[in-house]
Amino acid sequence: MIFLKVNFGGFVPLSTVDWRGRAVCVVFLRGCPVCCHYCHNTALREGEDLRDPEEIVSLMESSRMLVSGVIFSGGEPTMQKDPLLLLAARARRLGFRVGIHTNGVFPETIQALIEERLLDRVALDIKTRWERYNDLLKRPYVKRVQRSLAICRQAHADGSLPEFEIVVTLFRGCEDDLPEIAREAEGVDLVLQQGVIQSLAPLSGEELAAAAKSLSRRVIIRTREDGEIVCGGSASPPADPKRYPADTETER
Ligand code: SF4
Repeated sequence: MIFLKVNFGGFVPLSTVDWRGRAVCVVFLRGCPVCCHYCHNTALREGEDLRDPEEIVSLMESSRMLVSGVIFSGGEPTMQKDPLLLLAARARRLGFRVGIHTNGVFPETIQALIEERLLDRVALDIKTRWERYNDLLKRPYVKRVQRSLAICRQAHADGSLPEFEIVVTLFRGCEDDLPEIAREAEGVDLVLQQGVIQSLAPLSGEELAAAAKSLSRRVIIRTREDGEIVCGGSASPPADPKRYPADTETER
């Protein structure tokens, strides 16, 4: 019998923008321990809406005809370690690929998901250069994010994490963070996402492309106007299906 509850934030039955090349559903888990000034999900940072995990499984199941995977987002999905492990395992049994969007402040959850072979994709936010990190998050979490980065890098290198990308939400005036973040992202997909807040004009696609060009590497640029474009190289080949666990149990 399951006694766990999920602090639920919402459900999107079909998304074609949350996992490149894959139609997915998105489960939002409520709660986030940090406080980014630009957060667009403030309604999901706090509060409680406790649900039976089976309710979330039913929602995922209702999308099965439309999607081949699920993204757990938030808030911060890894904050709810046991509920997330349970939901990811149930998603596997539905035949889904499983991904997370994470701020990286709960490395032990990411480690557990990888050890259980429950994770196919991680999009890890790196929000600024390390020396500025704790100020931005308003919490002393920089070492946790560094640990998450190391875990994902290792898992990606040994094949147990098929897809891994680092996402930078870039705001005007913060371009000088990029060289250090790009060094941390060496050998890993790097996404520059247009940062949008009311008080500041967002960087244009051209400005982001110029910032990407200065890094002399492949960068994926994401803007409201143009969606995703790749700068400085060809697009990634599709993930090798042989790298996914061969014994994925399915209820299909
Ligand atoms: S990590 Fe994400 S959900 Fe949490 S405050 Fe920052 S932007 Fe918002």
